Amino acid sequence: MSCNSGACQSGCYQEESSFNEDNQRPVTENCGGSNGVSLRGGDPNSYGLCIKCKVNETIAVTHPAVSGGGGDCKRFCADCFRSNLFGKFRFAVTSNGMISPSDNVLVAFSGGSSSRVALQFVHEMQHKSQKNFDACRDRSLPVFGVGVAHIDESIIFPVPSNDYDSAVEEMELIVSSLAPPAKKFFFVPTESIYSPDFAAGRDQLTNLVAAVDDITGKEDLLEHLRMRTLQKVASENGYTKILLGTCTSRIACHVLEATVKGQGFSLSADIQYVDARWEIPVVLPLLDCLSEELNTLCSLDSLKTIEVFQRPRSGINGLISSFVKLLQEENPSRESTIVRTAGKLTPFCFNRISEVGHYNGQLASQRRQKKYNLKPTESLPPESFCIICNSPLKKSGTTISNGYDDGETGIGAVCSSCQYQVLPKEPSSLDSFYSLLPQSMTALAKDRGNNHKLLWEQIQDCLLSDSDDGT
Ligand SMILES: [Zn+2]
Ligand SMILES: [Zn+2]
Repeated sequence: MSCNSGACQSGCYQEESSFNEDNQRPVTENCGGSNGVSLRGGDPNSYGLCIKCKVNETIAVTHPAVSGGGGDCKRFCADCFRSNLFGKFRFAVTSNGMISPSDNVLVAFSGGSSSRVALQFVHEMQHKSQKNFDACRDRSLPVFGVGVAHIDESIIFPVPSNDYDSAVEEMELIVSSLAPPAKKFFFVPTESIYSPDFAAGRDQLTNLVAAVDDITGKEDLLEHLRMRTLQKVASENGYTKILLGTCTSRIACHVLEATVKGQGFSLSADIQYVDARWEIPVVLPLLDCLSEELNTLCSLDSLKTIEVFQRPRSGINGLISSFVKLLQEENPSRESTIVRTAGKLTPFCFNRISEVGHYNGQLASQRRQKKYNLKPTESLPPESFCIICNSPLKKSGTTISNGYDDGETGIGAVCSSCQYQVLPKEPSSLDSFYSLLPQSMTALAKDRGNNHKLLWEQIQDCLLSDSDDGT
C-alpha cells in the first residue's frame, strides 16, 4: 500500500495500490531512490539489509557476482526481488484477463533472458493452478495448458552446426525440465510459413529477404515473419494465446524506432498488454519489467539462456538500442519514462481480450480490467491493416493517408514504413516481390477486404440513394 504515496522509498510492488491513475501502469520504477539509497533515517539499507523485509541481506551482499541489477541489487534481498518481479508479471496477467483456465498458451522462446523469465513465470503460475486443481474436490476449473515455440531463423543468419545442435538440445532440456504439467516444444524454421516442403520455402524466403535492400527493412520484415510463423504454429496446434517476453526496455526502443519510421498512428497498438488483432491474441505480461531486472533474475536463479541465436540489432533499430542503453545508464528510469510517455496514446479496440466465453472465475479480473483498462467504445476498429507488418492504417474518406492503397498493390494496403523500408524502390519489381510473400500475409488482406465488401453490401440496402432521398 505504501507505494501509492510519492514518498515511498522501497520501490516495492504492491498489487492494485501501485497504479498511477494518470497512465494506468504500475509506478514501481519511480518510487525507489534512483541511487538505491533510502533517504529515511535509521534505514536498514545502510547496513546492507533488504528495504522490503528488513531482515535479509541485499543481493549485492549475498550474490556479489550478480551484476546488472543496478539499484535493485543494493535494495532487495533475492527473495523480495524475485517476488517483486513475479508480482508485476502476475498482476499484468490477472488485471488484463490474459490467461483463462481454458486457455492453451504458446510461449515464444527466443533463448534470451526476457523470454526465459516469461517461460519460468508462466510455468510457476501453471504449477500453482495444478496444485490448486489437485487439492480442490470439485475440480471445476481446468488448468491452462502451456507450449513453447522457438522460431529458427538460421537460414537467414547461419549458425555453426555444432553450436546449432547443442543449442536445440539445451532448449529441449529447458522445456522438459519444467514439467509437470508437460509442455510441448516446437522448434520451427521460418520457411515453414510457406509450405510443409521446407526446401521450396527456403528458396522463397531467401529470395524475399534478398529482395529487401534496406538493412532495417530486412530486420523488420523478419520480425513480421516471426509473428506470422508463431501464429501458424499456434493455430495449427490448438493454442489460444501467444505469450511474448517483451519487456519495458524493448518497448522503449520500439517507441523510438516507430517514431523514426513514421509509425505514429499504429504505435499504440504495439505497446499494450494485449494485442488481439491477430487470429491468436498476443499477450505481453512482462511489459513492466526492465531487461536489467530479467537478466538479474536469470543470474540469481541460474535460468539458462541460449546465446547462439541472439543477434545485435542493425540499422535504425541498432542505433536506437545503443542510444536507449546510453540513456538508461545515465538515468535508470529513462526506459520507463519513454514507455509511460507513449502510454498516453489511445489504444485500439483490439488491445483487449474479448469477454466472450470467460469463466466465472475470471469475473474478478474482468472487474479489475474494466477499472483500469480502456473502454470498449473508446476506439473504432481500423478499416485496414498493412499486409506486411499488420499495422492498422488510417483511412480518410476512400484514400489511405499514410500508405499505398489496395489499388496500387493489387493485394492490399501497405503502411508508409514498409513502403520505404521493405518494398523495392523499382515499381517494376513490385509484382515479383509480392509473389514472394507468404500466403498468410496476402490471404489475410484479401479476407479482410472481403469482410469489408460484405459489410458494405449489407449496409448499402439501408442507405438512401441520390434519387430516392425525397427531393
Ligand atoms: Zn527482502
Ligand atoms: Zn507495414
